[in-house]
Amino acid sequence: MKYFGAHVSASGGVENAPLHAAAIGATAFALFTKNQRQWKAAPLSAASIEAFRKNCEENGYTPAQILPHDSYLINLGHPEEEGLAKSREAFLDEMTRCQQLGLDRLNFHPGSHLGKISLDECLRRVADSINMALDATSGVTAVIENTAGQGSNVGFAFEHLAAIIDRVEDKSRVGVCIDTCHAFAAGYDLSDEVACERTFAELDRIVGFSYLRGMHLNDAMKPLGSRVDRHQSLGEGMLGMPVFRYIARDARFDGIPLVLETPDEARWPEEIALLKGLSQE
Ligand SMILES: [Zn+2]
Ligand SMILES: [Zn+2]
Repeated sequence: MKYFGAHVSASGGVENAPLHAAAIGATAFALFTKNQRQWKAAPLSAASIEAFRKNCEENGYTPAQILPHDSYLINLGHPEEEGLAKSREAFLDEMTRCQQLGLDRLNFHPGSHLGKISLDECLRRVADSINMALDATSGVTAVIENTAGQGSNVGFAFEHLAAIIDRVEDKSRVGVCIDTCHAFAAGYDLSDEVACERTFAELDRIVGFSYLRGMHLNDAMKPLGSRVDRHQSLGEGMLGMPVFRYIARDARFDGIPLVLETPDEARWPEEIALLKGLSQE
């Protein structure tokens, strides 16, 4: 079974996210469980948690169809003690919120070395941060997203994801989310079926499909290897439709949230319908 959706708004409360997802015909969704541009948020109220669970149940969303995303401010590989401590505290709060909502995974960007520590040291810090968060929570998997490799962001090579996983103690609670736009920007060709075959074989060899907990389906505005993270609507960018057709038809992507982060929200219903159609061809 393929689950297609989009990163929907949770404004007015997390309980609204499943309603927004249902309204666009989604069978999966992503959300922020707090304002993604602020460090602190009020704890989730019991009423909000209850309403979220009820709205998910009534609209047929199980945890395997939901991929929460953490705040963009968090840098789990921060080179400085203060920034690292602040990030770890905020990440733990994000993991806790997911646990409270009955969700089983949290998607995050690994981090940035900011030109102050080596890439390897940054990856080590990310893994340590994950270990700390897993120790303090239960039932929630830390899902590392590949990045476009902009600036000093780590996680653009599959080897980076593997290196982090390698240092995580509880392998049952760590996973990856592959963003098609980020992969392409990082130099992994996905522009036709042969390229997809090669790139996903590499993902399997280096990381392993057993760690795949979600996908972000985005076309790319910038060329292969640009290292620039600019999402585009499906079929409108440098990728075109082959990669989305490939994912829709390949059973290795069954049973996980496949989430649009494309820029034109008005097109989400049409993009979701298109993906559903491709999966049934
Ligand atoms: Zn992301
Ligand atoms: Zn993404």
